[in-house]
Amino acid sequence: MKIPFNKPYMTGDETEFILDSVATGHISGNGKYTKLCQNFFEQNYGIKKALMTTSCTDALEMCALMLNLKEGDEVIVPSYTFVSSALAFVREGAKIVFCDSLLNHPNMDTSLLNTLVSSRTRAIVVVHYAGVAVDMDVVMDIANKNDLVVIEDAAQGIDSYYKGEPLGSIGHLGTFSFHETKNIISGEGGLLTINEDKYVKRSEILWEKGTNRSAFFKGEVNKYGWVDIGSSFLPSELISSFLFAQLLKLDSIQSRRLQIWNLYQESLKELSDIIKLPVEFSYSTNNGHMFYIICNSFEERSNLIEFLKNKSIHSVFHYLCLHKSEFYLKENSTVSLPNSERFERTLLRLPMFYELEDSDILYVCECIKEFFND
Ligand SMILES: *Cc1c(COP(=O)(O)O)cnc(C)c1O
Repeated sequence: MKIPFNKPYMTGDETEFILDSVATGHISGNGKYTKLCQNFFEQNYGIKKALMTTSCTDALEMCALMLNLKEGDEVIVPSYTFVSSALAFVREGAKIVFCDSLLNHPNMDTSLLNTLVSSRTRAIVVVHYAGVAVDMDVVMDIANKNDLVVIEDAAQGIDSYYKGEPLGSIGHLGTFSFHETKNIISGEGGLLTINEDKYVKRSEILWEKGTNRSAFFKGEVNKYGWVDIGSSFLPSELISSFLFAQLLKLDSIQSRRLQIWNLYQESLKELSDIIKLPVEFSYSTNNGHMFYIICNSFEERSNLIEFLKNKSIHSVFHYLCLHKSEFYLKENSTVSLPNSERFERTLLRLPMFYELEDSDILYVCECIKEFFND
């Protein structure tokens, strides 16, 4: 039997909620289930305003629009991340300044931020890799001193906390993903979180194709029309009803994922002199999004992937550094970000999904031990 890297988990309640959304007769966006999902985040995670989007990428694009960027404006982004964390801002004309990872974790090294901030810097995008928080006190302090907007790319960060504060509620803006590879899913899907009053009204306008339709439905204006730029960022009720079924099972999904994570960590402990296991920070919780190991070299990792593949186990590497991408190098010169580049070569993600059995986890760990001990 093959052990896949990921298997999207369906709670079994999704179709019932979709049928209910169909029965309401309202299947476009901003209906009953859109509001239920948004309320869920606002009530459980202390978020001022939550807006469902069709992806995390879309939510990041909304953030970029809210910055009103001008030619030459700079946005600081980690290099070891998904394309969207940078691309959303590039599309609005930003110059991306890449930040290296920490020595022992893919998250951005916040001690570098002071050297990266210039008079042109407008925003810092932080990515909470594997749902582990970036050191937000440092980021917010630098942002406040330099009048910068902080955007949390919390695509992987659902139900995780920094010093007790939910991820996505700390920066001025935040984004989540419900892509089928994340903890809570709707196939494709995302969320924008707005934690600052001054962005609330504009975000609703951008969300509704540049119209003040949201204000109209709240009775704040007596007709609605075209007032700003925007796009069709809101998902249909079919997507939100699927997601709501998942949100109701959040606690059991999170606790099983954490068990899986802990079993990996415990079972692989004896290899901790040979490979690196994920580090934990006192300021952050873990949300069981991902389990990875750090190999000693690119060759070792390639051999291990092949070894596991021959044992029917699918393990995968992760990001290719954005600062070395073909697209970035077309317009920019190379920089060296040694920690991000090392994670690109050596980080390996192991199978991680709700239905993964303990026996499978132990088998994966046995195979890894066999690889390193022989
Ligand atoms: C998954 C992911 C995204 C993209 O999410 P989509 O919903 O697919 O647009 C962006 N950033 C990070 C860090 C991610 O992990």
